Amino acid sequence: MQKVEHIGIAVKSLSVSIPLFEKLLHAACYKTEEVGSEKVNTAFFRSGETKIELLESTDPEGVIARFIEKKGEGLHHIAFEVKDIYAEIKRLKEEGFVLLNETPKEGADNKLVCFLHPKHTNGVLIELCMEKK
Ligand code: ZN
Repeated sequence: MQKVEHIGIAVKSLSVSIPLFEKLLHAACYKTEEVGSEKVNTAFFRSGETKIELLESTDPEGVIARFIEKKGEGLHHIAFEVKDIYAEIKRLKEEGFVLLNETPKEGADNKLVCFLHPKHTNGVLIELCMEKK
């Protein structure tokens, strides 16, 4: 795995949290994007080499809405950049990790992504992401 590409934070409302993070990071949100497959609106910020991704649910039954219901707003996942997501999936499966999606799917920000089951990663949801060519 390469660097931490981004950190995902679940929020109730982007319209509240975008100005908050703009103040916090002293940087403008540079992109918002709806990801239909995940039922989320996302907003991105740069903090050095790493991005911050805010996630707002577009559906009361969506994964982010359910996460906030259970745990409240806050840290949702850590995303690592990988060079070859298919090779990394194979390696992690061989190591006994469980993937939530074994076939990479379209994520925000022009990425192919997959998630590891947090049960096997000390409760931390881990995302692998690879830039689409
Ligand atoms: Zn993410």
